[in-house]
Amino acid sequence: MCGELRIEQDGQEIVLMGWVNRRRDHGNLIFLDVRDRSGLTQVVLDKEVSGEAHAKAEAARSEYVVAVKGKVRRRGAGLENPNMPTGAIEVVASELLLLNEAKTPPFSPADDAIANEEVRLKYRYLDLRRTEMQHNFALRSRVAMAIRNYLVEQGFLEIETPFMTRSTPEGARDYLVPSRVHAGSFYALPQSPQIFKQILMISGFDKYFQIARCFRDEDLRADRQPEFTQIDLEMSFPQQEKVFRVVEGFLTAAFKTASISLTTPFVQMTYDDAIKNYGIDKPDMRLPPMVSLTDELTAELRETLKIEKELPVLGFVIPKAGGLSGTQKRGLVEEIRATFGDCGLDFLDVARLKTNEAFAPLASAIESKLKSVDPTLRGETAKDGAPNTSAAASAGLADDLVIVVTPKIGTPAKWNFDPQWIYKRVGALRLQLAAKFADKHGRFAKTGTEADFKFLWVTDFPMYEWDEETKVWNAAHHPFTSPHEEDIKSGKLTSDKGAVRALAYDIVLNGTELGSGSIRIHRQDVQAEIFRSLGMSDAEAKERFGFFLDALEYGTPPHGGIALGLDRIVMILAGATSLREVIAFPKTAKAIDLMVDAPTPVSDQQMRELHLKTVTRG
Ligand code: ASP
Repeated sequence: MCGELRIEQDGQEIVLMGWVNRRRDHGNLIFLDVRDRSGLTQVVLDKEVSGEAHAKAEAARSEYVVAVKGKVRRRGAGLENPNMPTGAIEVVASELLLLNEAKTPPFSPADDAIANEEVRLKYRYLDLRRTEMQHNFALRSRVAMAIRNYLVEQGFLEIETPFMTRSTPEGARDYLVPSRVHAGSFYALPQSPQIFKQILMISGFDKYFQIARCFRDEDLRADRQPEFTQIDLEMSFPQQEKVFRVVEGFLTAAFKTASISLTTPFVQMTYDDAIKNYGIDKPDMRLPPMVSLTDELTAELRETLKIEKELPVLGFVIPKAGGLSGTQKRGLVEEIRATFGDCGLDFLDVARLKTNEAFAPLASAIESKLKSVDPTLRGETAKDGAPNTSAAASAGLADDLVIVVTPKIGTPAKWNFDPQWIYKRVGALRLQLAAKFADKHGRFAKTGTEADFKFLWVTDFPMYEWDEETKVWNAAHHPFTSPHEEDIKSGKLTSDKGAVRALAYDIVLNGTELGSGSIRIHRQDVQAEIFRSLGMSDAEAKERFGFFLDALEYGTPPHGGIALGLDRIVMILAGATSLREVIAFPKTAKAIDLMVDAPTPVSDQQMRELHLKTVTRG
């Protein structure tokens, strides 16, 4: 291969095939860099060695496909290229074949960065020739293989489930496939193999997995694809801890392919704690959590500072982002106030409190509480990273940005029925400032080690989510998720839906949800009750999921599982910033495949056969 030749091959006769990456014509000497997916080799066409080969090289252009026969030789002194793995050698060609020509490409696959993504997607075959893309797909293949091998070793069976099926319950819109044979009927493409994998448990395949394609017709936010790949698995008789160990195992195997060793088990946190400490159900733990300052703000202090009596006061620190000028600070406070709008939350200036004798003790109590949550803020060495060398660390938080948020008098305790809204708003501010000051705190910078990856399990999600628009309770995960046994027994399913906890869990990495799963309902009566509690009539449940309710009655084992996004895992491992960098033929944000130009209208004939007619709605 073109990227494999080293000084050890000096003197060997070799044959290389590949593409002309670049061509440099020095008259009697022509240099061709020949590329394949392993890399590049410099080939020298010397008129003296072979006039015929040299003449062909004169005709060769970028992206021509060539075959070269020749001899490896050490490059002349001073001509080595230490930046190229093959930079110590070159190949002196005795023969050259031009296997195929190429039109001048719209961009050169030899370039590192191509600004226009639409052009990249239209000429995807050229884009995929680029070294970076070749690496991404080699990595993707290794990751998928490592996961397969691990799961098979653990006794899992890979079983395929249908693409043409009925609507599945992940809560997005379905892609539909019209039936030719059954006029007016449609298959749905699966949003996930959910129902099939549960049925496989009923069928006795107690450990199933599939690297499965899923289809969801969603309004595409930046980082979504209408079809994507999940590592989907299901087990019979598991505690959720068992599912966690399996996932940690295959992720360890996957990360190993990128030379990163993970420490397991991962941190575990309940949903309620995640909201309390991070204001979000997918905490990014690379930065210190929020801290409750509710105790520090006594009733008396609240009264003088005009702070609402009961509501939480929260603070957090962005390390090393302090030391702002007066103007910068005013700008920041304005930005924070604009973020909060008129919701009642406000910025409390701790630095200012310090300068006032009456409030100085409060300021130092706040600072010491904030410092208590992150070892680096106390000037200690973090378990995984560099020590905080700043002299300010031991003195106070002078070097760090301290944000404290207080509710003004009259701030509502609930917002859109959500009693946790203050935690969520402050958590969002924490992320906003973390992104803004990324250069200063440096916690998002890649070190190429395990420290870059903060995994955690979030457990005990709420079972239901209130939809204010439609005024109904929806399943927060999906309707096959089992509630906690106690919450069923205590009658909360009917009396207090908002308080029902689900046996549902997410795996989170650096603030991104990598996957979610749950222990399922395995009893038909409970499943029917859950459908009812979601506002689905028995008739409707029977119509949509009748086959599944039937199946549940024939001896269903307790079971549970999870699905993780393969695309996202590879994206993170490749250090890519978009899923499109790790999906060979992705779609744009408007769900278009620019290369094949899909979707398109189809012929009248096809429409007739499918019993379809397009109607333009006014
Ligand atoms: N089917 C779920 C999803 O795709 C995952 C699971 O519950 O296993 O999100």
